[in-house]
Amino acid sequence: MHTPQQNRLPKTYRISAVTRETELVTSFTFAVSLGAKPGQFIMVWLPGSDEIPMSVALDDGKKLQITFFAVGDTTKKLATLKKGDLVGLRGPFGTHYEWKPEQHLALVAGGYGAAPMYFAAVEAAKDGCSITAIVGARSKTHLLYLDAFAGLSGTTLSVATDDGSQGHKGYNVDLLRELLESRTLRLRSGSTAHAVDQVFACGPERMLVAVSDLCAEHKVVCQLSLERYMKCGYGLCGNCVINGVRMCVDGPVMRNEIARTFTEFGRYHRDGLGKKHSL
Ligand SMILES: Cc1cc2nc3c(=O)[nH]c(=O)nc-3n(C[C@H](O)[C@H](O)[C@H](O)COP(=O)(O)OP(=O)(O)OC[C@H]3O[C@@H](n4cnc5c(N)ncnc54)[C@H](O)[C@@H]3O)c2cc1C
Repeated sequence: MHTPQQNRLPKTYRISAVTRETELVTSFTFAVSLGAKPGQFIMVWLPGSDEIPMSVALDDGKKLQITFFAVGDTTKKLATLKKGDLVGLRGPFGTHYEWKPEQHLALVAGGYGAAPMYFAAVEAAKDGCSITAIVGARSKTHLLYLDAFAGLSGTTLSVATDDGSQGHKGYNVDLLRELLESRTLRLRSGSTAHAVDQVFACGPERMLVAVSDLCAEHKVVCQLSLERYMKCGYGLCGNCVINGVRMCVDGPVMRNEIARTFTEFGRYHRDGLGKKHSL
C-alpha cells in the first residue's frame, strides 16, 4: 500500500474534545479528517515524549477520534492532556477491513479493539451490512463503546466479561463459537438466512488466535488486526516485520489464511529493538 509523502510527516492538531471512557481509557477527538478507513492506524506524537501507533476509532470526514489505554510513559502523559492541547498526528497507515454491501459481519472486540470495530460497524452499516458486535473485557467497568454500538441501527450487541459482571461470563470468543456453530448447522440444513459472511477481530493476540482457529474450523472468511512495535509506519524501518511481512504496510489488517502462516502469530512479539518476547 502506497503512503503519500504528505501523510508521512506529522502535523500538530488541537484536541477538540476529551472523553474519559473508563478509569484507564481516554478518547481524544480532533476537528480534522485524515481520510482513514476502519482498521488503519495513525502515529500519535507527544512532543518531548514519543510517537506511538493508535488505531483510528472514527474518521467521519469532519472529525477523527482515538481511544487509548494509559499503560506506559507516553499514554499516561497523553491522558493528562486537555481540550485545546496540541498533539502531532500522521497517517493514516496500513490496510483496512473490507466488506461487500449487505453482508452480515461478526465483529469481535477485546480491549481498545472496540474502537476500530465500532468504526468498521459505522462504515459497513452505510453499505447495508448487518452487524453482530461481540465486545469483551475483564469486567463491566472495562467494557468500551457499548452505548455507541447500541445506538447503531442494524447492529446486534453481545457482551462478555471474564468475571460475569455484565453479559456472558467468559470470553467473547465463546459467543463467537455459539454464533458460528449455529451458522454451520443452518448452512448444513440449506438455510443461508442471517449466516455470518465474515468475521473481523481486533484485540489481544491470544483472542485473535482463538478467533482465527474458530474461523478456520468453520470455514468463515476472517480479517484480523495484527499489532507489532511500529516506528516509521510506512515500511522503511522494518521493526514491525513478521515472517518477512511489514505489519505497518501489508497489515495491520490481515486475512486469516495469511496470518495463520506466520510462525510468530500468537507466539512472540518484538520490542523496539526487534528482540523477541513470548506473548
Ligand atoms: C497498529 C497499532 C494500533 C494500536 N492502537 C491502539 C489504540 O487504538 N489504543 C491503544 O491504547 N493502544 C494502541 N496500540 C498500542 C499502543 O501503541 C501501545 O500500547 C503504546 O505504544 C504504549 O505506549 P506507552 O509509551 O504508553 O507505553 P510503554 O510503557 O512505552 O510501552 C508499553 C508496551 O506498549 C507497546 N508499545 C510501545 N511503543 C510501541 C510502538 N511504537 N508500537 C507498538 N507497540 C508499542 C510495547 O508492547 C510495550 O511493551 C496500537 C498498537 C499498534 C501497533
